[in-house]
Amino acid sequence: MNNAKIISNIGELVSYDSDSKSMKVYQNVDMVFADGVIREIGKDLFSGELELIDAEGSLITPGFVDPHTHPVFFETRELEYEMRIMGKSYMEIAAAGGGIRSSVRSLRSADYKELKGKVKQRLDDFFRYGTTTIEAKSGYGLSTESELMSLRLLKELDDEHPLDIKRTFLGAHEYPDEYREDHDAYIDLIIQEMLPAVVREGLAEFCDVFCEEGVFSVRESRRVLEAAKFLGLGIRLHAEEFKPIGGVQLAAKLGAISADHLTAITDEGIDALIEGNVIPILLPATTFFLGSDYYAPGRKMWDRGLPVAIATDFNPGSSMTQSMPLVISIACLKLKLTPLEALQAATINAARSLAMDSAIGSLEPDKQADFVIWKFNRYQGIPYYLGYQAIRSVWKRGREVWSEPGE
Ligand SMILES: [Zn+2]
Repeated sequence: MNNAKIISNIGELVSYDSDSKSMKVYQNVDMVFADGVIREIGKDLFSGELELIDAEGSLITPGFVDPHTHPVFFETRELEYEMRIMGKSYMEIAAAGGGIRSSVRSLRSADYKELKGKVKQRLDDFFRYGTTTIEAKSGYGLSTESELMSLRLLKELDDEHPLDIKRTFLGAHEYPDEYREDHDAYIDLIIQEMLPAVVREGLAEFCDVFCEEGVFSVRESRRVLEAAKFLGLGIRLHAEEFKPIGGVQLAAKLGAISADHLTAITDEGIDALIEGNVIPILLPATTFFLGSDYYAPGRKMWDRGLPVAIATDFNPGSSMTQSMPLVISIACLKLKLTPLEALQAATINAARSLAMDSAIGSLEPDKQADFVIWKFNRYQGIPYYLGYQAIRSVWKRGREVWSEPGE
């Protein structure tokens, strides 16, 4: 083994047991990795040819997998945030020309290099919160040119940056101003021009739609997603965020890999997820950021055996956070997941929702050496240290990609 390293003096190491489909916590183990891959986890593995890393009694977890983000935006929207705090609803702000459509205007006129610099900074920031893989969507361009530009930018950054990025085409995020009065013409543009170009250039693996009252109806969503599926893309959906209009039933019918948000899901909707084998991705930081009290029924979904995943939904309008530890805290308090369940939702279940669970999402031999060394020794500390930057160092494919200054 070349460049083999061993981490010793570990407080707890959180892994996953695929037989029981639950997390497993080890004490007093070492972890050996080489060439970016975990080789062995067990007791007393030290030998002379291994380079020693002393964990000083710290907790070690898998790197987080954030399966729902919107990082390709230009301007931030803190003025809208203030409007909301002063009483305007998200939907009212959108109707007044704010919301996603204001991000569309600023993205379309952005300088490519400046935009790329901003997105690169955001990728660096994912590392500092312990996230080692993300799913990232387009969706602030809403024209063929700017949607393709957003995905090409993500593809370039995926090649240049050590963070792994799974790309999703979200041309159906909102109707652009020029198609407000003619929805079918915009859907035609997506189907006839955008999707074929995305597939031809290999720019995305998934297609997503914002299926919601006042945005894309179930019928409109189905047109886009059926076309995407026909072209070989995987399907994800923003569904039942504000109104249960049947997005989850559509997700199940089309064989979607995930349905996301689900704050307004009904019991019949939960049945549909189970029957359709659709992974629920819950975004409790969005509910919190919007100042709402109506969280997705995470506890109920977990108890019914669904492999619940959680994500930041990082975006400039409704969830300006990249912190999975913060999402885990909110998932414990508001979705009523236990700390260990929330950790599972943020790692292996999230990896499964990206069809990457054979390579990432848990600390097991032959998986990528993507992990976090924490400043404390027990997994309960992750939700407990609320909003505190409690990470010592972050490792991607066996290489340290972030460390606390002074460590
Ligand atoms: Zn979203």
